[in-house]
Amino acid sequence: MLRAVVLLLISVAVGLTVGELDHGYKGYHIYEVTPKTLEQSQLLHQLSLDGYDFIKEGRLLGHSSRVIVSPAQFERFVKLVKSEQIAYTLLNENLGASIDEELALLKLQRRMNPITGKGRLSTERYYTHEEILNYIDDLAVRYPSRVFVKTVGWSYERRALKTITITNGDQRKGKKLIFVDGGFHAREWISPAAVLYIIDQLVEQFEQNADLLKDYDWIILPVVNPDGYEHTQTGTLARMWRKTRQPYGACYGADPNRNFDFHWNEEGASSSACADTYAGPTAFSEPETIVVRDLMHSLSDRGVMYLTLHSYGNYLLYPWGWTSDLPDTWEDLDEVARTGAEAIENATGTVYTYGSSTNVLYIAAGASDDYGFYAGFNVSITMELSGAGSIGFNPPVTRIDEFVTETWIGIRAMAEKIIEKY
Ligand SMILES: [Zn+2]
Repeated sequence: MLRAVVLLLISVAVGLTVGELDHGYKGYHIYEVTPKTLEQSQLLHQLSLDGYDFIKEGRLLGHSSRVIVSPAQFERFVKLVKSEQIAYTLLNENLGASIDEELALLKLQRRMNPITGKGRLSTERYYTHEEILNYIDDLAVRYPSRVFVKTVGWSYERRALKTITITNGDQRKGKKLIFVDGGFHAREWISPAAVLYIIDQLVEQFEQNADLLKDYDWIILPVVNPDGYEHTQTGTLARMWRKTRQPYGACYGADPNRNFDFHWNEEGASSSACADTYAGPTAFSEPETIVVRDLMHSLSDRGVMYLTLHSYGNYLLYPWGWTSDLPDTWEDLDEVARTGAEAIENATGTVYTYGSSTNVLYIAAGASDDYGFYAGFNVSITMELSGAGSIGFNPPVTRIDEFVTETWIGIRAMAEKIIEKY
């Protein structure tokens, strides 16, 4: 409130409205950059450490990364890529306009097509956290012998965190388990959308997926970071928010995927509260990551696979993320990830790169996939979903269906492999 008043006073003093102070990503560009040498790759990584926002990042030579470049960063960026001869393409010359368009459409869809919480959700739009909770609550009412919803905790802003457990209804004790979550990073809207599609397949399309529930239950937490997710739907400036929303001094939130207490804050995380990869003041400083931690420990004795959905970049990643060393069972992890990648490529031609997080992306300690593996899940996978070409960060609503069905092909294949192996 105080900040708003101060902004208002400043804006009145310099003759601007508050709206004009909101840069709204006006004039922000998105570039695709492709390093061909190790030196180029390291220079680009240095930009990410210097505050350039990479919405897709990888270290493999010949693989493209995508970066948001603000007007203030523009000169240094262009100078660098030109002088170092790094291949670059302009993908979006006005991120602000793309975001405005996306948010206006979201508003219109909500008005034209309000969700009552009854019946199936279409893949024609992105949903609010409340709509998602209403949907899973309704499933539990409609399928009382197979679907169970439980409140497992609360976000910092007191939004309910609910899991949906999907079974085949046989109530057999000691079944094995697959744990899936989404919505760790607020702006990655395609992640909860893909989670909703998994739920739809396992519940509404039960007959054709019964093999996946014969000896396994699935527990799904659709939105780990609902405060951040809701924040990204409130306006242009908030659209690219990534973290949670707990205040830290003048800044907000920690990166929930750097907040887990396993080699916490050793590498690839920031100690600055304003940074996008802020590890938090301590491990498990965020109520949302405590919920995931407690779920993992309570499920790990029968939990075989932990799968967490992010976007974007077409990656299937397994531990470790805190070191370039590989776990003893890395060949099993690699086999599962490869199975998912091959299934997707055979079906749609989309190429997913698979490997350990550190070796394919960059070293980043304190992530949930490392913690899940450490907590006892045999297989732990981070899936970075497909991106949306040139127009912005998320797939446009017209392409949600294409992306979530493709994602499901990979997840289904990995689940079949898990069931065969364990
Ligand atoms: Zn993410």
